[in-house]
Amino acid sequence: MSDKAARAAWLREALEQASREYYVLDRPSLSDAEYDALFRELRDLERTYPELRTADSPTLRIGAEVGESHLAKYAHLVPMGSLSNAFNDEELEDWAASGRDVAGADFDASGFCCELKIDGASMSLTYKNGVLITGATRGNGSVGEDVTANVRTIRDIPLRLAGKGWPPLIEIRGEVYMTFDGFEAMNVERAKAGEPVFANPRNSAAGALRQKDPSVTAKRPLRFFGYAYAVPGVASLPFNTQWELLDTLARWGVPVAPHRARCATLADVHAWAHALETTHRASLAFAIDGGVVKVNVLATQAELGSTAGGREPRWAIARKFAPDVAETRLVNIEIQVGRTGVLTPRAVLEPVEIGGTTVTYATLHNFDLIAEKDLRIGDVVQVKRAGEVIPQVLGPVPDKRDAANPPVPFRAPKKCPECGTAVVRLAGEVAIRCPNDRCPARHLEELIHFTARGAMDIRGLSEQRVRQLLEAGLISDPATLYSLTEDVLAALPRLGDKSAQQLVAAIDASKSQPLSRLLFGLGIPDVGEETAKLLARRFGTANELAAATSDDIEGIHGIGPSIASSVTAWFADAENRALVKALARHGVNMTEPRRAESEGALLGKKIVITGTLPTLGRTEAKELAEGAGGKVTDSVSKNTDFLVVGADAGSKLDKAHALGVEVIDEAELLRRIGR
Ligand code: NAD
Repeated sequence: MSDKAARAAWLREALEQASREYYVLDRPSLSDAEYDALFRELRDLERTYPELRTADSPTLRIGAEVGESHLAKYAHLVPMGSLSNAFNDEELEDWAASGRDVAGADFDASGFCCELKIDGASMSLTYKNGVLITGATRGNGSVGEDVTANVRTIRDIPLRLAGKGWPPLIEIRGEVYMTFDGFEAMNVERAKAGEPVFANPRNSAAGALRQKDPSVTAKRPLRFFGYAYAVPGVASLPFNTQWELLDTLARWGVPVAPHRARCATLADVHAWAHALETTHRASLAFAIDGGVVKVNVLATQAELGSTAGGREPRWAIARKFAPDVAETRLVNIEIQVGRTGVLTPRAVLEPVEIGGTTVTYATLHNFDLIAEKDLRIGDVVQVKRAGEVIPQVLGPVPDKRDAANPPVPFRAPKKCPECGTAVVRLAGEVAIRCPNDRCPARHLEELIHFTARGAMDIRGLSEQRVRQLLEAGLISDPATLYSLTEDVLAALPRLGDKSAQQLVAAIDASKSQPLSRLLFGLGIPDVGEETAKLLARRFGTANELAAATSDDIEGIHGIGPSIASSVTAWFADAENRALVKALARHGVNMTEPRRAESEGALLGKKIVITGTLPTLGRTEAKELAEGAGGKVTDSVSKNTDFLVVGADAGSKLDKAHALGVEVIDEAELLRRIGR
């Protein structure tokens, strides 16, 4: 056997086994992304070497054979298909090009009906004279399992169709799914009973459907969305397009998924798919794994037909999301020392592509989590990247540990890796800190922060440049930046006359930044950009702020006792006062026009904040929201008005989705409070 034939045989067997675990046992051992990658490899091999294709190839088949079980087999009146996949815009264009080869201009003429791709279990409901007589799983497309007794317990599914116009015999096809909270609740129950938990809502819905006892199914929060129909033979139907079909199903009392769209062109479809992935997806209480794009006119659908073997219709395609989890090796755990002395571990990974981006670093949050997850250097780890969020390490894959070359357990440091000072952990904090105010790493970070955008915004003063100046002993604190001259700078390696001149000009220009930028740049604990604005606008000058008491500061809406005491403590420190004086001597602006505060925009709103927000610290966000009249609480309930989410949000986000609580980001929070 050639290498290619051997590989094809291996792929067939691997896919066959995965399908059995997935469809029959409801217990996948591969991730969907891994399965899809193997499937594509086999399909591409078969396209290049058609002689390798066997009649039983998984690329020609749907689902898995229905095995012996307590459920009776059911032969579908009309076979059920699967869908081909497009993982990006180009693949969608390729699909359209082959559609045009078959249907010519008809393909685009009526536009496209775009729907959510519900991540549930495929279901066919047979209605005779409007009455539900059978509910059956897809099985291998021709023969499924009869789950009628279980289906009758799903309250979304009408036992009798409403309205009129249905043909005497019709199969209504759709998806049985579970909401996120239903899925979690079911897994909690299974774990308690010592049963294996389900990997995703889809397997969990399929498992619930195939229960022996319908009263067990009845307890599962199963739901249904309809999106297709089939009629044996010829029948007169009250719809001509996919869009009208969905409207009709809704009139007959069948639930139809939200967020569908009619798109005139493929360009509109691309825009819809991107909006779905980046916006709508996060607001749903149930899982989707993409969108489905369908040629709208049913007559054109019939003209297009299916691919050979009937596995996939040519008139529809799944526009799947890029997989957001991948496996790679944890090469090292680096420790970074931040401006406030917090030591942060960071994962260094063997570069891996996730969702179209190469990921080399990922967040590990804190040392407790590394211990909890038992992450070891050299482990194969799962890494998740969703949208613009910083990639995060979900955990190790212990099964992939190499006994001959075992990964090395990691211990949290006892000393600062930069200055060797023993680290401390403040009561009630997860973070480990370097307490040394003179730690060179902290010093460097302070200076970088001072010059950064949002603070004094000194263009051309990059991180490397600050490091170079510090190492050359030309700067020590922010005030010393303002003593730099062109001559001194031009003498440095890699810095010519022109750059030196530009740098001095940029430093000089920063002197006129408003007081709020300076306050933020000084790195006063808990004072982020927004709080700095509140302080500057209330007090107008640095001197007045320095003289203010905690009570004076707390009088500002949006500032609570902890920020107030942080500010007064900072100004009480002699070295800090000397720094402010030195900056003033160099001509740095110490004022900002006073302004009245906007208040009450969130009056009476119950708000929860979760995850790491892009610019606001947690305390800052809380106090800002409270300053606008909101009440910030710790846990999400149905009384919560909205959840503000940042990176790495966890169970609170899931709960908000499950309860239908509105989810917003930091930018929206700031917009609502008028900033
Ligand atoms: P699919 O899930 O990719 O797409 C077809 C199905 O989408 C349809 O049968 C239908 O049930 C569903 N669907 C949801 N919303 C729809 C809508 N609005 N319109 C039409 N259909 C809609 O295909 P599949 O054949 O069911 O399964 C293949 C996929 O299952 C693979 O791509 C893989 O991700 C996964 N799988 C995983 C493993 C594993 O081991 N992890 C094994 C087998 C299959």
